[in-house]
Amino acid sequence: MKALLILLLPFFVPALANAAEPIPVVTTTADIAAIVKAIGGDRARVESIAKGTQDPHYVEAKPSYMRLMNRARMVFSIGLQLESGWLPLLVQGARNPKLIQIDLSQGIPVLERPTGPVSRAQGDIHPEGNPHYWLDPRNGVSMARRIAQELKAVAPADGAFFEQNLKTFEDDLGRRRQKWEERLAPFRGAEVAAYHKEWEYLVRWLGLSIVGYVEDKPGIPPAPQQLAHIVRTMQQRKVKALLVASSTGPAIPQSVAEKGGARLAVLPASVGGEKGVDSYGDLFESIVGKLAEALR
Ligand SMILES: [Zn+2]
Repeated sequence: MKALLILLLPFFVPALANAAEPIPVVTTTADIAAIVKAIGGDRARVESIAKGTQDPHYVEAKPSYMRLMNRARMVFSIGLQLESGWLPLLVQGARNPKLIQIDLSQGIPVLERPTGPVSRAQGDIHPEGNPHYWLDPRNGVSMARRIAQELKAVAPADGAFFEQNLKTFEDDLGRRRQKWEERLAPFRGAEVAAYHKEWEYLVRWLGLSIVGYVEDKPGIPPAPQQLAHIVRTMQQRKVKALLVASSTGPAIPQSVAEKGGARLAVLPASVGGEKGVDSYGDLFESIVGKLAEALR
């Protein structure tokens, strides 16, 4: 028996080494990367194209990202045209026919789906509805389930491991979500203003409402009349907070908040958008803390 094992060992070793190789995964955003890390553990090696400090609508299609995708097995994206300005270029440049592309928006209840025809010429960068759905932790659970399913399809032998990680992720997020909801419960119904249309999922989850935007159309820098309009609205409705992503330049939001008589709540809109926000749960920990502070 011993002799047989020794004889067979050289044949088994390469196969085992191969099986231990983590799945190379690329994600368009840092939020997806954080969830892939939680589910894939050491069985996935994940890299995000956009950093959490970047506006994911605008990312430069660098050759280094194409090389990254050339070596990847799977690429996960948010979809709904969030990455339409750069992801197709990267996929094309990657020249990787084996690359599996997964759009995580499938199965997500999308807000603000346009009913009539939409022209990007009007400047609307949300032509298929609002793509910022990761800012509701319940959608994060849907994303995690889909990610587990897709990882399992690529590495069936690790299926049980992914399922266990998914359960841990869901349990942890569920417990924390309850705490976040309790913390902000006193502010249910509060009205806020926002810079870009990216907090729709968040406010809907928390029972807040947005009275107006600094950007009239998503992606179009506000004209002076629009700035005057939002300031007036904020004054009339006596809103307490103006929500802005940490990736947005602070000059305009600061001036609007000041004139409108509101506190400026600078929130991380993605994992990595702020120091110490390293996981998907950290993201809401920070957002909820800052909202509670701004709405008090
Ligand atoms: Zn957007």
